[in-house]
Amino acid sequence: MNQAHEDKIVIFITIDALRPDHLNSYGYHRNTAPHLDNFIRHGTKFTNTFTNGPETPSSFSAMFSSILPYLSGGYSPLPLEKLIFPQILQENKIHTFGIHSNPNLSNYFNYGRGFEIFLDGERFKGRETVKKAVSIKNTIYSLVRKVINYKNLFYSIIFSIPFFNKVKSFIRNKVPKITDLLLPFTPMAYNAPYIVNKVIDLLKKNKAPLFLWMHFMDVHSPYNPPAKFVLRFRKKDFTLSERKFLIEQIYPNNAQDSITPKNIEDLKVLYDAEISFVDDSLKVLFSFIKKNLNQKCLVIITSDHGEAFYEHGMFGHQGSIYDELLKIPLFIREMGEDKNLKICKNFVQLIDIAPTILNYFNLDIPEDFQGINLYPILHGVELERKGLLITECYQKGGILKRNNFEGFKLISIRTHDWKYIIDEEKGSEFLFNLENDPVEKYNLIDVNREELLNFRLIKDYHLQKISEKDEKSRIVDTIKNLNI
Ligand SMILES: [Zn+2]
Repeated sequence: MNQAHEDKIVIFITIDALRPDHLNSYGYHRNTAPHLDNFIRHGTKFTNTFTNGPETPSSFSAMFSSILPYLSGGYSPLPLEKLIFPQILQENKIHTFGIHSNPNLSNYFNYGRGFEIFLDGERFKGRETVKKAVSIKNTIYSLVRKVINYKNLFYSIIFSIPFFNKVKSFIRNKVPKITDLLLPFTPMAYNAPYIVNKVIDLLKKNKAPLFLWMHFMDVHSPYNPPAKFVLRFRKKDFTLSERKFLIEQIYPNNAQDSITPKNIEDLKVLYDAEISFVDDSLKVLFSFIKKNLNQKCLVIITSDHGEAFYEHGMFGHQGSIYDELLKIPLFIREMGEDKNLKICKNFVQLIDIAPTILNYFNLDIPEDFQGINLYPILHGVELERKGLLITECYQKGGILKRNNFEGFKLISIRTHDWKYIIDEEKGSEFLFNLENDPVEKYNLIDVNREELLNFRLIKDYHLQKISEKDEKSRIVDTIKNLNI
């Protein structure tokens, strides 16, 4: 083992669908996450962080492999040839723990690789899951689930129970361990209090070197926060039918033309209340970290993508690639280095996470990793990078697709001032000048031909090389060196 990393700990926190502009630390008017904001006062806040995938599968593929989603065999399932950084940590005898409850991140999609302990809070519900479930326990669970989930009968029954939302909220908050019992039968996955309890247990029992990843799903739709968090931002809780109506708007293609500005504001209240719900649990975790892990510990907090609130006619985060989905928060705090808050305005992206963690453990960064190491920024080193970011996924009819044979390409390429989008399904292109039009409303493809041609060149270069794996490093160099 490398002696240099033997007593280090990395705690990696990802919060699904968390928009930076819904945090007070990024200028939001509501104090949604006071404990998070307080914790990062001694860390580094990155104000221009972007995802490389606008939804979970493409985003996490980039985050864990440090390679853009389309490259090296695609992104979902995560190809086995795509090395992910927990594998490198494990090879170097660093303990690796992961806990999540997003089916897209389950072992079924190869996210369990490299983890000594991997707690799959929500298994993928594909038919193949039954084939994979070889243990007697899992086989029985699968069969029972098949019976009670027959044509969603089970869901229909439980959702028709009066006050089901309130009962569920109460259970989530008060008895998180019940999720373990109910998990095989219900959609009640790991929630924030449960994850934090579990993580603290693991931290108490295990020693450095250690990498611990936890992923929170509470902020992800359907937003169904306990009433007490809604009451922080509203005088009265929503009724069950109000909640039901609002939640139904989020599903792809569900939003009606009759959606009103008040509906949008109400949805934001529910979303903000979910952020507060997670923040309440983070308070417990942060106090444990401050008390017990006050040195040689790096805490990284980010999200996989944002969330839309009808800025471009949709909610949620599918089938779109506008900035409400691409901008994400990023905080890094090095425990024991209690400096004042540092703000980094450089463009950074999710492919930079893996190199940063490897570097903190003094491990070599593989040559084909496309991201850069952000660790020196924490110590005042200026970042040298040209502003070019690629975000990409496959989609069809506004729904995420996992592979090129299932869906169409949706790509965004951006520099500091310009953003280019190509939507293969609709055959349309967009060009926005972000300096004058940060909300991406005015398509300039017919006005700024020169910029358009530059972006087309980059796009063609990026796509043309996908099939030529042996030239991958050349793509990386070229993308890094392109200057427009
Ligand atoms: Zn996600």
